[in-house]
Amino acid sequence: MSEGKKIDGKVPAGALEKKWEQHKFNMKLVNPANKRKYKVIVVGTGLAGGSAAASLSELGYQVDAFCIQDSPRRAHSIAAQGGINAAKNYPNDGDSVWRLFYDTIKGGDYRSREANVYRLAEVANSIIDQCVAQGVPFAREYGGTLSNRSFGGAQVSRTFYARGQTGQQLLLGAYSAMMKQVHKGKIKVYTRREMVELVMIDGQARGIITRNLVTGELEKHHADAVILATGGYGNAYYLSTNAMGSNASAAWRAYKKGAYFANPCYTQIHPTCIPVSGDHQSKLTLMSESLRNDGRVWVPKKKGDKRKPSEIPEGERDYYLERIYPSFGNLVPRDVASRNAKLQADDGKGVGSTGMAVYLDFADAIKRDGYETIKAKYGNLFDMYERITDENPYDIPMRIYPAVHYTMGGLWVDYNLMSNIPGLFVLGEANFSDHGANRLGASALMQGLADGYFVIPNTLGNYFGTHSLTPADTQHSAYTEATAAAEQKINQLMNIKGTKSADQFHKELGLIMWEFVGMGRNEKGLNEALKKIPALRKDFWKNLRVTGETDNINIELEKALRVADFLELGELMARDSLARKESCGGHFREESQTPENEAKRDDDNFTHVAAWEYCGDDKAPIRNVEELKFENVKLTQRSYK
Ligand SMILES: Cc1cc2nc3c(=O)[nH]c(=O)nc-3n(C[C@H](O)[C@H](O)[C@H](O)COP(=O)(O)OP(=O)(O)OC[C@H]3O[C@@H](n4cnc5c(N)ncnc54)[C@H](O)[C@@H]3O)c2cc1C
Repeated sequence: MSEGKKIDGKVPAGALEKKWEQHKFNMKLVNPANKRKYKVIVVGTGLAGGSAAASLSELGYQVDAFCIQDSPRRAHSIAAQGGINAAKNYPNDGDSVWRLFYDTIKGGDYRSREANVYRLAEVANSIIDQCVAQGVPFAREYGGTLSNRSFGGAQVSRTFYARGQTGQQLLLGAYSAMMKQVHKGKIKVYTRREMVELVMIDGQARGIITRNLVTGELEKHHADAVILATGGYGNAYYLSTNAMGSNASAAWRAYKKGAYFANPCYTQIHPTCIPVSGDHQSKLTLMSESLRNDGRVWVPKKKGDKRKPSEIPEGERDYYLERIYPSFGNLVPRDVASRNAKLQADDGKGVGSTGMAVYLDFADAIKRDGYETIKAKYGNLFDMYERITDENPYDIPMRIYPAVHYTMGGLWVDYNLMSNIPGLFVLGEANFSDHGANRLGASALMQGLADGYFVIPNTLGNYFGTHSLTPADTQHSAYTEATAAAEQKINQLMNIKGTKSADQFHKELGLIMWEFVGMGRNEKGLNEALKKIPALRKDFWKNLRVTGETDNINIELEKALRVADFLELGELMARDSLARKESCGGHFREESQTPENEAKRDDDNFTHVAAWEYCGDDKAPIRNVEELKFENVKLTQRSYK
């Protein structure tokens, strides 16, 4: 690994509370009549991309929006269940912008940029206003005010929700805002298109090559700036709570064109998922964190206790989160809850047929609040659990276990959400910003919508106002070269004609990632992963079989293209894990833990963002570093006790 350069996050000067306001004033504006001269490509129409496309179009920019699904409404964001944070302090329980900022910084284990997180907390309240104005049906109290519930890592109730379908309702809001502009002819939506290359002209991001997933055609799209809002890369583990189509390819194409990939090792493993039940699964199902408001997590005190939960008396149960963390109890952050579940299972106290599960029990809540109240709060989640497990969680405790859920790493962006490639902006889960080493629950929706509704509409204009652009169109040789590269890769994959499917390779990669780059990581295992992943990649390029043709719908080809990228990204994740010799948040290096098994940071050596720079397929990437400065919060050992 070569040591890299120091990079600058371009955080504006001034007091934390004034930075964004002042920066908005200092930034260059584009006059309304000139905005319509600029075209912007938005790749991704989830909450981040959808909100960005709608807002930029309302401002007057021409927008082309792309997604792989047959409708923007099917973006993975639709799966978000539990809620979205904001510091409105409606429950009057002591919340404030500062507290939301502080909880998010602390929750991320002091590995995020103060200024970005403060801005996020600051604009969060406006997101709620925006969504209410759009008609998003947030849950309300009897008197009509919006309801709040609690999520992990906070002692206040600040999560706005629409039953267990918050993502769906928010996405319908963003989608409606976008479609209004589509009908006015201001946004052009390209569905069933997959970005397969980024096009750069004179060092600036100017366009993309897409594969039409229905006809197989490679298409050229030109613009003045490119925004990637293409989601996270949790599917590198094969099994995750992400949608099957979630992928890292757009971000990876940008990385290979020079965009830095930041903190790829920061993966969130969510504690409350339906446990793996065999090797036939291709997807795992989340049970929202909101359930930990009322559900109590426990295991039998005795190792290997195979009795039914109803047969285990109170005194023989260990409500271990409540015991170890009396202040936060069942609402400790996800990384803490996940690690503790693993410790119980490793100690032989796991439940269910595999022993890789713990109970989430609602008996006390039902006794206290009644069946109807619990049903009103979580009914759709309980139904989903019953459909999958054939057990009724109103009567029998849920069995849950951690699973890969979210990726805090992503393309590096500065304070303006621009990558190190001029004109390439990255929003939502696809960027690395704001969540540090561990994202708090209900904060991803907040970040995606903050980026799309409130940040990019301000910072994009400043880019246009301060950069000149080479006049060009799709006739430029950069398009011919990028199309040829995509075509060559597709042909190469089709012509291997081996014996194993892309899914088989993906599954094998997932097992390596889960074992060596999963919940607990150590030097020996990571070095093992760094041998196994390149070997698997070699096998992939020798023995892959892609059936079907290139000129029509070919799901096998789509998968192969994505798995090829995951096989490279997986290696970078292992490399980043190995280089970060400390534990922080979701990145748990077994060599670096406190006597109570908590993540132990090494602030002297690792208070920075690692931003990896691609140097060629045969060369090790460079690890550049952005130092993180904490001027407003004191770095402490996180404690939820
Ligand atoms: C089950 C589940 C529940 C969750 N619940 C919550 C919650 O309650 N609260 C919370 O805050 N967070 C939650 N999260 C996290 C949150 O849902 C995501 O982080 C967030 O929705 C990501 O939004 P996004 O817009 O960044 O990306 P996505 O919604 O993933 O959208 C990605 C978009 O990019 C497009 N795309 C991808 N690749 C390409 C390509 N190569 N070419 C063209 N288009 C492409 C896709 O078509 C899609 O439109 C949950 C996550 C899961 C998995």
